[in-house]
Amino acid sequence: MPTELNQLHSSEEALARLMEGNRRYVAAQMEHPRRSREHRYELRNGQFPFAVVLGCADSRVSPTVIFDQGLGDLFIIRVAGNVTDTAVLASIEYAAVALKVQLIMVLGHSGCGAVQAAIADDELPGHLTDLVKAIHPAIESVKDADGDLLDNAVKANAQQVADQIRQNRPVLADLAATGQITVLPALYHLENGHVELLE
Ligand SMILES: [Zn+2]
Repeated sequence: MPTELNQLHSSEEALARLMEGNRRYVAAQMEHPRRSREHRYELRNGQFPFAVVLGCADSRVSPTVIFDQGLGDLFIIRVAGNVTDTAVLASIEYAAVALKVQLIMVLGHSGCGAVQAAIADDELPGHLTDLVKAIHPAIESVKDADGDLLDNAVKANAQQVADQIRQNRPVLADLAATGQITVLPALYHLENGHVELLE
């Protein structure tokens, strides 16, 4: 029997589908959908993902698992600290323009080591210096705020990256301004699996 390929999703539909999958994951009622041999075959000539997730490379934050999705569902970009660079922005542009994906979620997580390293601001080897530099403005923005600095900085970093995507010219800024994409920052809680929307 042929399996269902994704239809075009509005950003609202995509968000509802992600959050419903996260509810199943938190409740330990996962469906592990769309992972069959048949579904793999259905997807052989094209992909129809319904959301982009820009997440941290942290091994505990696998979007396909925490949103209980399957093959072909999510266009996932993962990099330590869920920051952007040219390759990340180009990947999002491809998903938005060529694949018509409307929802872009920037997913930070509690206890993020990259944000922690940026807070510690110790001497770091190699390219890590550039990575933490990208996170510093987010830390600066919350350094006098109440509450836990790491928690606040993780949230601020996801929000900062979401803003960078919305404002990135020429492609993404135009799509955001005309409502063709929605960019949402979110926070994954390692301890209970819950994804919290930050806007
Ligand atoms: Zn992380």
